[in-house]
Amino acid sequence: MLADNEINRVLVVTAHPDDADFGAAGTVALFGDRGVEVTYLLVTDGDAGGNERTLDNTGMAELRRAEQTAAAKAVGVTDVRFLGHADGSVVPSLALRKDIARVIRQVRPDLVITHHPDRNYQFVAPSHPDHRAVGGSTLDAVYPDARNPYAFPELVKDEGLDAWTVREVWLMGGSTPNHWMDVTEAFDRKLAALQSHVSQVGHVEGFADFVKTRFAAWAEQAGFGEGHYAEGFQTVTTG
Ligand SMILES: [Zn+2]
Repeated sequence: MLADNEINRVLVVTAHPDDADFGAAGTVALFGDRGVEVTYLLVTDGDAGGNERTLDNTGMAELRRAEQTAAAKAVGVTDVRFLGHADGSVVPSLALRKDIARVIRQVRPDLVITHHPDRNYQFVAPSHPDHRAVGGSTLDAVYPDARNPYAFPELVKDEGLDAWTVREVWLMGGSTPNHWMDVTEAFDRKLAALQSHVSQVGHVEGFADFVKTRFAAWAEQAGFGEGHYAEGFQTVTTG
């Protein structure tokens, strides 16, 4: 695994607004505290999210972009990018891999954080089809696309984006986490980030308690003890 001082730039690739906040915002806040530059890349605007029954999602994409931008700010992230793919219809594709590879070459991260591409049979939510598609395409963009100059050669020829090798990937939402981050110190900021998604969680009664219970349980699983909160990842060496 990369040592702390080998992680200077991080790219977090997720399907929807709020995914990064559930999975990694505490870790992101701690990275920011020690000067790591973090970029968020969102594949969709989350325009199919919400609890309205009118099926009129006019303005939803704009609203959710604004909510994600505020959530990012709560954990110190100001570089937030959106690819604008359609929420609910993301599939693994060359087009998506190219879009992600482009941003990897622009940002040149040491570490990428994204969704686990495999179905989690313990919980359904982490395995949304968009999540699995984004996780798989991001791993494909890490290897081989971003590092191989012959993959999408127009990225070099037309956009001047040289190949880049990402050294490590951390996967969120899998059933076999092997790396736990104690995010207790940043938990207030993680909660604030989550609560920035007003259209998604504003109506959920007891939301803060739900979040605390969930991440305290992981801290217990990680062996961090009482009063701690943890985020969990499966690490993949890709260097
Ligand atoms: Zn999601």
